[in-house]
Amino acid sequence: MAELIDGKAISQAIKDEIREETAKLSEKNIKPCLAVILCGNDPASTVYVANKKKACEYCGFDSVSLELPEETSEEELLNKISELNKDERVNGILVQLPLPSHINEDAVIAAIAPEKDVDGFHAVSVGNLLIGRPGFVSCTPAGVIQLLKRSNVEISGKECVVIGRSNIVGKPMSVLMLRENATVTICHSRTKDLKEVCKRADILIVAIGKPRMIDASYVKDGAVVIDVGIHRLEGKKLCGDVDFESVEKVASKITPVPGGVGPMTIAMLMKNCLEGCLRQNGLLNE
Ligand code: NAD
Repeated sequence: MAELIDGKAISQAIKDEIREETAKLSEKNIKPCLAVILCGNDPASTVYVANKKKACEYCGFDSVSLELPEETSEEELLNKISELNKDERVNGILVQLPLPSHINEDAVIAAIAPEKDVDGFHAVSVGNLLIGRPGFVSCTPAGVIQLLKRSNVEISGKECVVIGRSNIVGKPMSVLMLRENATVTICHSRTKDLKEVCKRADILIVAIGKPRMIDASYVKDGAVVIDVGIHRLEGKKLCGDVDFESVEKVASKITPVPGGVGPMTIAMLMKNCLEGCLRQNGLLNE
């Protein structure tokens, strides 16, 4: 039976470390500040934004929150971002996605100053990641690396298969595993014989967006399985992209849903905001 990788405990440990660092910074009169923009009233987004504010409070950060109506124009939103880019108190800017359909998400992401791009979605952040320069890494993949490292999973030299090639999960995830010296294969909707490729993996990272699709027949005995997926089933129960009950019988370590990758995303957002604050104050040796 696989050992559980406890994302709740690991994310808590990271938030506690951040809180300690923030307390030390306050002696220098520095306090990290995150600005969160919510546009419209998507119920899931409203919950995510509230959780981000709560995490800021826990870590000792200031937070600025802009709640804009659904009918906000793209120009108005871009103007708000421009103000926050110039605001010296603000170290990180996050625009909660998805945006209302009349707003171009790419234009909004591009408008955020790269030095405040704590979501790591800006082309400059992505480029820095790819060529190994310092910069923000998108939170969910960065969280997966922390889960692996803090669970003593050796990455270097291992066969890693990432299922999914989205800009926010699959692609940055693959680059991060490469940076950790894994041998990386990226699978996607056109991959032929997904099962056979997945069975090569010592570390299988699943970000496919299909409830419980990956069962034990995709997993090599003793593999480490990370489930990035999150789906709300009827009756409100959550599940991932991995069929947990089947896979836990063959994997050596596995993340549950909920309580695996999910809580790491906010912890890494806090880490990015602290990093932004340190960098903007010339306190980061890079
Ligand atoms: P996405 O839909 O943008 O990407 C899914 C990827 O899976 C695509 O690249 C596609 O090529 C691939 N894919 C789809 N069907 C496939 C198939 N049959 N075989 C092989 N590959 C296939 O999704 P995303 O934004 O990358 O998110 C993936 C999952 O992770 C979703 O369940 C999402 O809800 C979840 N997610 C969780 C967090 C978190 O904080 N835990 C954050 C972001 C996303």
